[in-house]
Amino acid sequence: MPNITLGIIGSGQLGSLLCQAAKKLNIKTIIISDDKEGPAQKFSDQFLFADYNDKKKIKEFINKADIVTYEFENIPIKILKNIDKKKRVLPKPYINQIVQNRKLEKTFINNLGIKTTEWAFINSFRDIKKNQRLLPGILKTNTLGYDGHGQFVLNTLDDIQKNRSFTDDYILEKKVNLKKEISIIITRFSKDKLYIYEPIENIHKNQILKYSKIPANISDEIFKKAQQNAKLIAEKLDFIGTMCVEYFIDQNDVLLVNEIAPRVHNSGHLTINAFNISQFENHVRAVCGLGKDKVIKIANAEMINILGKEIEEYRKKSLSADEFFFDYGKKKIKDKRKMGHLTTLKK
Ligand code: ADP
Ligand code: MG
Repeated sequence: MPNITLGIIGSGQLGSLLCQAAKKLNIKTIIISDDKEGPAQKFSDQFLFADYNDKKKIKEFINKADIVTYEFENIPIKILKNIDKKKRVLPKPYINQIVQNRKLEKTFINNLGIKTTEWAFINSFRDIKKNQRLLPGILKTNTLGYDGHGQFVLNTLDDIQKNRSFTDDYILEKKVNLKKEISIIITRFSKDKLYIYEPIENIHKNQILKYSKIPANISDEIFKKAQQNAKLIAEKLDFIGTMCVEYFIDQNDVLLVNEIAPRVHNSGHLTINAFNISQFENHVRAVCGLGKDKVIKIANAEMINILGKEIEEYRKKSLSADEFFFDYGKKKIKDKRKMGHLTTLKK
C-alpha cells in the first residue's frame, strides 16, 4: 500500500475529482488554494487556504506533500519552480511555462510539424493591420485565458480602435469555419508507457464546453492522427500525468490543434463512468509513480456540462441507472459557472 501524500494546487471540481481518484488508490491529498470556498476541500485530507505568494503557507504545503500536481495551468511559474526545488512538481513546471503562453505553445506545436490555426503575435494596431489576412479572426490574450475569457472577435479592422493601447500581448488567430471539435485525453506514465483515450467529440457554446461524447463521429484517419499528434506532443514535452489536446476539424477535414491543457480536462469527465480507469485515476497513478494499469472501456457515453442556474433543475431530477450526476457543491451560483455535469452511458 503506498504511503504517499499528493499535493494539489487548486480546489475546484478538477481538484475534487483528483482527490476522489487518489482516495480510491489509498493516496492522501493536501490542497493549497486561494479560494476559501473551493469545493475540493470536502474531498482532500488536508486543506490550506492561502495566497500563492504566502511563503509560509507554501512551505507548509511543501513539507506536507511528497509530490505536487495542479488542477489549473495559470499558476505563476515562479511559484511552481520554487516548489519544484523541494518536492517534485508533475507535470514539470517548464511545460506549464510553454502551455500558459499561446505564442510559445503554438510555436512548439508548429515546430513538431503539427498544424494549428494560422496565427500571429500582436501587441499593436499595426500588427493587426499587417496581418489582415487573418480576419475574420479572434484576438486572444497571450496568457491567462480560459473558457473564452480574454477573447475578442475581429471581423474587420473597424472592430478595433486604431488608438487602442495594447497593455497586454495578444495573438490573432484566423477564425476557423468549424466542422467539429474533438479532444484527446492522454496519460503518460514514463518513457514508452502511455494510455490514449479514444477521441472525444465536443460542442462549445459561447466558448465554454457544453457537451462531449464518445465515440466521436470522425474518420479513422482523423482518429489516428489526433492520437498520434497527442502522443508526439506528450513525448516531446516529457509529460508525466494526464493532459488534453483540443482540436478543431475544419470544413475540409483538416485537423488543427487548438490548444494543450497540461492537466485533466472537462471533456474527459465521461471517462469516470465510461472506463474502468478515469483520466483522474490515471493522472494520480502517473504522477505518484504507481504505473500503468489496464484500461478498459465500459460503454459509450455523453456528458452535459451544467452551467449557472441550470444546476437547480438537475438537483431535482430523478436519475435513471445509466445517468451519473455530479454536483460540484459550489456555494455560489454564477452565470456560466461550471456547477456540475451529467454523464449518460450509452449502448
Ligand atoms: P480557452 O483557452 O478559453 O479554452 P480556446 O482558445 O480553447 O480558449 O477557445 C474556446 C472556444 O472558442 C473553442 O473551443 C472554440 O469553440 C472557439 N474558438 C476559439 N478559437 C477559435 C478559432 N480560431 N476559430 C473558431 N473557433 C474558435
Ligand atoms: Mg480551450
